[in-house]
Amino acid sequence: MTTQERIIIVGAGQAGGELAAGLRKQGYPGRVVLLGDEAHPPYQRPPLSKGFLQGKVALADLYLKPLATYERFDIEFKPGTRVEAIDRSTREISLRDGSRLGYDKLVLATGGRARPLSLPGLDTARPENLFAMRSILDVEAMRGRFVPGNRLVIIGGGYVGLEVAAVAVQLGLRVTLLEAAPRLLSRVTGPEVSSFIEQLHRERGVEFRLSCEVRGLELDEARRQVRGVDVACHGVPERLEADLVLVGIGLIPNTELASAAGLAVDNGILVDEYACTADPAILAIGDCANQPSAYTGGRIRLESVPNAIEHARVAAATLMGKREPSTAIPWFWSDQYGLKLQMVGLSTGYEQCVTRGSAERKEFSAFYLKGGRVIAADVMGRPAEFMAAKKLVSSRAEVDVTRLGDAAVPLTSLAA
Ligand code: FAD
Repeated sequence: MTTQERIIIVGAGQAGGELAAGLRKQGYPGRVVLLGDEAHPPYQRPPLSKGFLQGKVALADLYLKPLATYERFDIEFKPGTRVEAIDRSTREISLRDGSRLGYDKLVLATGGRARPLSLPGLDTARPENLFAMRSILDVEAMRGRFVPGNRLVIIGGGYVGLEVAAVAVQLGLRVTLLEAAPRLLSRVTGPEVSSFIEQLHRERGVEFRLSCEVRGLELDEARRQVRGVDVACHGVPERLEADLVLVGIGLIPNTELASAAGLAVDNGILVDEYACTADPAILAIGDCANQPSAYTGGRIRLESVPNAIEHARVAAATLMGKREPSTAIPWFWSDQYGLKLQMVGLSTGYEQCVTRGSAERKEFSAFYLKGGRVIAADVMGRPAEFMAAKKLVSSRAEVDVTRLGDAAVPLTSLAA
């Protein structure tokens, strides 16, 4: 490692920002160049669908670090800079303005983009009141329409859609949320938690259409405004009036740079446990990367802040010549109506769900077991229990289910 060496990080998001700072904290002596195509320094996305949309979090408070910190850390941060291509043979990248930059190590931290709605004719129309939720720009575009009385239709019952629904009803909008599956969050949680969340929102006035297929958007004559959404729920056609529509149907990882450069991509850029691609000069981290997981024993691509931070830590170690694979367990949080929802592990394939606490009092946890062992937990409104739940999941604890289901028994006493 020399002062002449240059690491280029493509993507100034959560993972890229953490990595740039992490390299300096670990004493990396070379040049650190952080390139991002957005106008902002690295920022936190979670508040976008929560406090920032609600107007409770200021723009500057989204930033991971104040702009001046990058200069102080001698990080060459260039906003508004899009990387168009990688030339692995010369170890250079091309920027949108046509210039080229050489690298010794390149880290792809390109995140993902909101999955667009795929409906016939929509590709040629750009309705002004059809929104996605991924960036500051997205929120700035939709905010003016978050006024009392407006009818918001949300397509997609994942965390982002639900968080926007929570903010919107609190701001006085009339909200209808459409979900293709028979229940909310069906890919990531059990039926007990789905109905808890549904009830939480219904109590505040959110309407749901489950098992709902979106058949089309009704546009005005100029094709600039969505007027209504045509759906079929349980096969029954319906037209929903809309003043604005939010599409929250998942993320497409930004892997095009990597695949065009001949790197392997399969639901994310394939990396090893040290965040390295098959090219020893190129790493990939965060939402765009598909990595081996010590927790599942297989491969996984995660979309969460804890993962972006952990993956940046692994990459910083690798770039400093150390080998520190991740042993972290996937975890995630959400915030709806001020209620903290914390999820740890992956419940896929669970055999038994044990609940504890009271759904009515909004203090409720669900533990997922496989082969008698705890593999995942959803903790709602019981933040004091989360650390203990995390330990049960990480040790795959074998527990007495009667005691696990008894909220009077401390979780800490259950871990062997
Ligand atoms: P990103 O933060 O997406 O950053 C990638 C950056 O790279 C972007 O700025 C992108 O524009 C840029 N880029 C892409 N291609 C190029 C290129 N060619 N050249 C230059 N720049 C490029 N996680 C949680 O754990 N809890 C939550 O409550 C939560 N809430 C969320 C709410 C919302 C609305 C969203 C959108 C996400 C939320 N997440 C949450 C997920 C979390 O924010 C992401 O997992 C995290 O931001 C991933 O970080 P990243 O750096 O991998 O990607």
